[in-house]
Amino acid sequence: MGKLQGKRALVTGGSRGIGAAIAQRLAADGADVAITYQRSADAANKVVDEIRSTGRRVMAFASDNADDRAIESVVSSVAAEFGGLDILVNNAGIFEVGSLEKTSLEDIERNLAINVKAVILASRAVIPHLGSGGRIINIGSCLATRVPGPGIALYALTKAALIGLTKGLARDLGANGTTVNIVHPGPTDTDMNPAAGEGAEGQRQRIALGHFGSPHDIAASVAFLASEDARHITGAELAVDGGINV
Ligand code: NDP
Repeated sequence: MGKLQGKRALVTGGSRGIGAAIAQRLAADGADVAITYQRSADAANKVVDEIRSTGRRVMAFASDNADDRAIESVVSSVAAEFGGLDILVNNAGIFEVGSLEKTSLEDIERNLAINVKAVILASRAVIPHLGSGGRIINIGSCLATRVPGPGIALYALTKAALIGLTKGLARDLGANGTTVNIVHPGPTDTDMNPAAGEGAEGQRQRIALGHFGSPHDIAASVAFLASEDARHITGAELAVDGGINV
């Protein structure tokens, strides 16, 4: 029996990259899984088909994190359909670079809405469903704690904000037996940050292990934090970054 048998999970941004790997891993460990995505319906359907073929319940929602109310509506639908919710993985995010003085108000608001506000709203919506064994797992970034170059202040801010949210919620929800943790990926080979992309070599040189992570590396850590094995871990930051910040 899988370690997450009987658990019900929602993974935001589960159509591609890290989120797709997390959704597939949680399902492989026995959980029923719902995912959100913004526009990649074909990719989302592929993830759904793969999970369904394992016998788990699965759903996908086109839901834009930039829309304040959309994620709350997804949480209610998933909880109603699954008969509850045990695990929330706040994974969806965008990475936009540029100097702050050239960043428009609209850009600032979009980055905060997708990377921060939606995480707050999803967490707020899921809390009433969580009890003993409940899990909120946020996906941060190695850039939340160390900024190695220019142009990423806004992104670093959004991911650093999630650390405060994680620690505060760990305190708030501890008495209910719900844990709240944050995983900080380092450079991970996805559409957002391809290992063969421009700028990849500079990142690689700073990684102690000398290579990009795979989405499965992040998914394995999330699956651990979601499991009973991690029941005494809360408010923690787990770097899965190949040692880039060592
Ligand atoms: P990708 O760009 O490869 O995938 C992003 C996922 O998020 C997709 O499923 C996408 O949906 C979804 N998404 C994006 N914007 C929205 C939105 N407005 N509403 C709903 N869903 C949305 O990213 P990664 O897999 O690389 O990144 C996942 C997380 O990991 C992010 O939070 C990122 O900041 C973080 N991270 C990534 C690192 C890396 O090197 N890759 C390093 C550190 C952190 P759709 O397919 O529909 O566009």
